[in-house]
Amino acid sequence: MNLIIMGAPGAGKGTQSENISAKFNIPAISTGDILRSAIKGGTELGKQAQSYIDAGKLVPDAVVIDIIKEHLATDACKNGFILDGFPRSIPQAEALDAMGVQIDAVLSLEVPDETIVTRMSGRRTCLKCGASYHVLYKPSATADVCDKCGAELVIRADDKPETVLNRLNTFHSQTEPVKSYYAAKGKLICVEGQEEVADTTKLVFEALSKV
Ligand code: ATP
Ligand code: MG
Repeated sequence: MNLIIMGAPGAGKGTQSENISAKFNIPAISTGDILRSAIKGGTELGKQAQSYIDAGKLVPDAVVIDIIKEHLATDACKNGFILDGFPRSIPQAEALDAMGVQIDAVLSLEVPDETIVTRMSGRRTCLKCGASYHVLYKPSATADVCDKCGAELVIRADDKPETVLNRLNTFHSQTEPVKSYYAAKGKLICVEGQEEVADTTKLVFEALSKV
């Protein structure tokens, strides 16, 4: 299954794509995670991306399109994949088509802006492995320690309230049109994000069982 998951920043894409990845045994490819690890590693890609991410803007299309092209060409993706955070603009969606990649379904996690702002304030992220938690909705077993790799959990630099508002603006202006793009192809499935992660997961799996 070739899937895309979309949604506002903090809608829960990363969490749900991990669940989908585990259930269907397909890799989850998160452009956000790839860019953050490049920043952490101080690579050329990281240097290019940092100022855009810190400002809540999109990293240039050409940069992320290259990343996706590279990942989709690997053997790991030959039986399916889920893209988390790509495509985020119409040119990115068109580039995916131009690569000849067939998409089976596009899940859109619907979460109102007000909820996003509240959620982001409690989010904690593992800088080492990228795992994501929430102090109320998805706490780690030990406070500030990653369940998966034991590294320290931090507040992502771009989860600051001012940056979150910029990210929401970017989402509405550049990413929401991508929903219409896939709706026109009959690929869009909208799922309402629930307060409990497990409830959203249930709706996501129900929706995917019909694909
Ligand atoms: P969340 O991960 O909680 O859903 P998000 O979608 O805003 O929130 P990421 O997907 O982790 O966060 O992306 C973080 C930042 O990385 C974005 O704000 C953007 O600057 C950059 N980025 C990630 N994917 C893309 C993309 N496909 N095109 C351009 N920029 C991207
Ligand atoms: Mg994410």
